[in-house]
Amino acid sequence: MPLMTPEAYKASLRDGRTVYYRGEKIEDVTAHSVIGTAVDHAAIDYEMAHDPPKPEDRDLALVDGPGGPCSRYYHIPRNADDLLKRSALIERATALGGTLVVLIKEIGTDALFALHLIAEYMDKNQGTAYLPRVRKFYEHCRDNDLAIAVAQTDVKGDRGKGPADQNHPDYYVRVVSEDSEGITLRGAKVHTSVSTNAHEIIVLPTRNMGEGDAAWAVACAVPANAPGLTMIASGYGRKGNEFEYPISAKHKMMETLTIFEDVKVPWERVFMNGEAAMAGPLAKTFVEYHRFTAISYKLPLVDLFVGASHLMAEYNGILRAGHIRDKLAKLISYAEILRGMTREAAREFKMVGDIAVPNTEIVNIAKLHFATGYHQALAWVQDIAGGLLVTGPTKEDMDDPRLGELVGKYLGGAGGVSAEDRLRLMNLIAEITATDFGGYQAVLAIHAEGSIEAEKMTIWREHDVKPSADYAKWLANIK
Ligand SMILES: Cc1cc2nc3c(=O)[nH]c(=O)nc-3n(C[C@H](O)[C@H](O)[C@H](O)COP(=O)(O)OP(=O)(O)OC[C@H]3O[C@@H](n4cnc5c(N)ncnc54)[C@H](O)[C@@H]3O)c2cc1C
Repeated sequence: MPLMTPEAYKASLRDGRTVYYRGEKIEDVTAHSVIGTAVDHAAIDYEMAHDPPKPEDRDLALVDGPGGPCSRYYHIPRNADDLLKRSALIERATALGGTLVVLIKEIGTDALFALHLIAEYMDKNQGTAYLPRVRKFYEHCRDNDLAIAVAQTDVKGDRGKGPADQNHPDYYVRVVSEDSEGITLRGAKVHTSVSTNAHEIIVLPTRNMGEGDAAWAVACAVPANAPGLTMIASGYGRKGNEFEYPISAKHKMMETLTIFEDVKVPWERVFMNGEAAMAGPLAKTFVEYHRFTAISYKLPLVDLFVGASHLMAEYNGILRAGHIRDKLAKLISYAEILRGMTREAAREFKMVGDIAVPNTEIVNIAKLHFATGYHQALAWVQDIAGGLLVTGPTKEDMDDPRLGELVGKYLGGAGGVSAEDRLRLMNLIAEITATDFGGYQAVLAIHAEGSIEAEKMTIWREHDVKPSADYAKWLANIK
């Protein structure tokens, strides 16, 4: 069972895929100044298995597969320990990725676990035969150590209307025809992360659907270089220097508008085709795994809020101030509540068939806690750091002997901290709070893995309110 090396991973992406960046067709994504950064970032998952920074990273990254070691991401969780280790792997890979999730196997396996569960349910209850196809595709990805993107979010047009009621039929990806070989897919998905540097793209429905929406109830897998598939990459991103952009100079995730113009998908890669009533459950089951991935990958970022703010308070000589300690205590609580809930969601898993699913209610509460607290946390970090976050001298100034000396003289910090170290820390905090990368992280916090309202709805639906309502009745003497 071959594990891919980082070099083999990069070489495998030169496969004739159709990717555009700022209007230009990119022939080799690995060589492009911005998308290439995303490729290098994604290679972390392969490096952890081959040439890890710490020996224990390899143990975390790999498990025994049927034919030898395989990526832990592909290990189907069977108990709390499996979920805890999966979460620890995601956290570690994200920490190595400068707080940016790597995602090339996380999201795809979230989808594969959900497809296993839903296919099994449909095959048992509706007489379909999807599970063998899901299993075969899963084994193909696992055994070839593939990178997978998930295209779930449709462009959606009028959010108040379902697929069949839209102004034109392609606001949701749909099946336009089928024949003895398979289906033909048309439409567009949006915000598809890591698609420029994945081997496979799993297409999933994004919402509940009614009987009239059968043509849009589709799940399948498409190779990233499939004829008819066009990816228009987001314009965000630039090649920056490591002094001013310590994270984004090396780390990047790429999203695309992912357009399916009559893409042929053979039957063996079709996992849902017209079962409209199951579109919602598939979307929901994927998202429950994916939000567990989310709360796991947020941990390095919230840790960085704490560590960088504490260090900056030290550098600025304000660590003893009451209001600073108040903000640091709140930042610590913000981070540790998230960590505690992530672990608890794994420990309080439930078995569906023979697959362990993280506790849905806890996952959603954790994600809601993270998303709704994010901008407040940013405000505390920015408040502690000060205005130099956006007004500091540049690398060119530091490299100039006379200007560098002046900056060194005037911008030092408390206890003899050098101007250079203070600016390096300032630039790191600016990256996560005040640059385009900080803005990207903020939007990621609010929208990725589903909206805040979706999290609230899930909490409302999942919580068993009866015991607390009964308690209120008992205290109020209501019979
Ligand atoms: C950086 C990033 C990476 C992402 N990666 C992926 C990915 O890899 N794959 C993928 O499939 N998706 C991905 N997403 C998509 C993500 O799941 C969506 O952004 C999210 O579900 C919100 O959808 P939207 O962006 O279309 O916003 P909208 O759905 O337009 O939401 C905007 C607002 O409208 C509200 N709203 C929407 N519909 C209704 C309604 N019917 N009634 C009332 N209110 C409504 C929402 O609650 C929200 O407040 C990513 C998003 C981001 C930002």
